[in-house]
Amino acid sequence: MGDGKKQVILMKGIGVSSGIVIGRAYLMERGIIEPAQFCYLDSAEIENEIERFTNALKTSRDQLLRIKKKMEQDGKGKEHIRIIDAHLMILKDNMLINDTIKVIKEERVNAEWALKTVLKDVKEYFDKIDDEYLKERSMDIEHIVNRVLINLMGRKHESIADLKNPSIVIAHDLAPTDTAQMVKGTVLGFLTDVGGRTSHTAIMARSLEIPAVVGLETVTRKAETGDIIIVDGTTGTVIINPSESVVEVYKRRKERYENYGKALFHYKDLPCETMDGRRVRLMGNMEIVEEIDSLIEHGAEGIGLYRTEFLYLNRKDLPTEEEHVKAYKQVVKRMAPNPVIIRTLDIGGDKFLAQMEMAKEINPAMGLRAIRFCLKNIDIFKIQLRGILRASANGKIRVMFPMISGMEELRRAKALLEQCMEELKAEGKPFDPNIEIGVMIEVPSAAIIADLIVKEVSFISIGTNDLLQYSLAIDRVNEHVAYLYEPFHPAVLRIIKTVADAANKAGISVSVCGEMAGEPEYALILLGFGVDQLSMNAFSILRVKRLIRSISYAEAKKICKQIVSLATAKEVENYINSKLPGLYKEEFWS
Ligand code: PEP
Ligand code: MG
Repeated sequence: MGDGKKQVILMKGIGVSSGIVIGRAYLMERGIIEPAQFCYLDSAEIENEIERFTNALKTSRDQLLRIKKKMEQDGKGKEHIRIIDAHLMILKDNMLINDTIKVIKEERVNAEWALKTVLKDVKEYFDKIDDEYLKERSMDIEHIVNRVLINLMGRKHESIADLKNPSIVIAHDLAPTDTAQMVKGTVLGFLTDVGGRTSHTAIMARSLEIPAVVGLETVTRKAETGDIIIVDGTTGTVIINPSESVVEVYKRRKERYENYGKALFHYKDLPCETMDGRRVRLMGNMEIVEEIDSLIEHGAEGIGLYRTEFLYLNRKDLPTEEEHVKAYKQVVKRMAPNPVIIRTLDIGGDKFLAQMEMAKEINPAMGLRAIRFCLKNIDIFKIQLRGILRASANGKIRVMFPMISGMEELRRAKALLEQCMEELKAEGKPFDPNIEIGVMIEVPSAAIIADLIVKEVSFISIGTNDLLQYSLAIDRVNEHVAYLYEPFHPAVLRIIKTVADAANKAGISVSVCGEMAGEPEYALILLGFGVDQLSMNAFSILRVKRLIRSISYAEAKKICKQIVSLATAKEVENYINSKLPGLYKEEFWS
């Protein structure tokens, strides 16, 4: 099946969403605008180059006018149209145009290089001005220059939603805004140069059951559109232009994997309890409403984490209170009589709001993210809180605050929720006055004071993705430090134990909704530490249920007693592996 004489290339990355897929590659421009190549011109080429530049300006202008027209037809507000007008103005800016032409002429360089040089000067100029409004305009200029650059290089800004043929998408980077637009069936799988196991792009891939490998570093340079590619999202193996015999091997593996998935449905209607009768509630994580069917199909007993930020992505305005109510009502009605835990907006980190032009931060993961953003943008926060409260009149909704790092934040968030309750009461709008309030424990400071936090909430949920990021100091989207993502790290285990002990002592529910919850070997430990709820993607539910049904709570506790005395992640892993075969074995690779 290998295409002609094309070279076979084997690559190894981080498998973030299991499953095997074989298909044609489609390379997308994402994440980086290729650095403008420097090119020295002959004097005869200069006029040509200027013409190329002015053509790219014209193309950019036509594109913006088309977008503006569409917005007007769609009845978009004046504010959005004003942004396009501002971009159109920048395109006419004499400084930008004349200076670029001047650089092309005087320095005899290509248009891309000249434009980048001018952009650098303009940005330096704006950076010196102490005026927020003007600083934001500098971002507008960068935006528009990128559009001109793409047009100069003859590329289109592609949307994943426009993909016509079923393909394996390859990109330097994909944002959660991209993955949120992916449609299973059209996007067969995806590969990126960058990324880590718990980046939101990876999490979305697992939710949508699209095989994916990230952190491949150079896949955008090695693969070409149209190449045949094998993606093994379980092992992180990628084969470009494979031979026919290798394709046959992977076809058989794919079949085995799919049969394994089907066989797991045996567990769907069986209770999730240990051999000695400890019940563990297995819930689903969701980003978009389309995931509910699959979660129900796999037997999720509620939603343990509704990542509501996806309501805000891929749109030009902010969701209204009515839109919040509608979305949450839909979810809670579908999941009834099971509960739905709605996490308030967790924007920042690797998810950005296009509507807000959020300031660029050097360390976004440690910046104005999640609850910090909401407590600074109270109007936006209150719209969501009112939406959650109003939806709570229709079923079992719980509210959960992300990224809490101390008691003040928790108390301020609770006070705002109370304020919203008062307002709704005065307006005669129904809501559940006893709505349960919980927090995510994902910042080490919150974990350390878990004994205090548990006194003021009804439940806690450990967000291990961020908890690992912050406690082990590993950027969750950085492929270079992905090897340090070690849920078995003794520090991680001790932190989880501290939090679970605090919740158990206070008699409140403690769940884990990070990616650790969906892996049987980690779920075993979480069970032993006394976690009573696990929330995960659809596919993991039955795998974890199978593990829990194959062990006693007493045995899990004994295992945990042993592992807390071990010194390294490797020692813990070896110990768990020595215990697992007797309990349980994932047989699909054998
Ligand atoms: C977590 O941090 O573990 C978590 C579940 O939240 P998110 O992955 O959305 O940051
Ligand atoms: Mg988190």
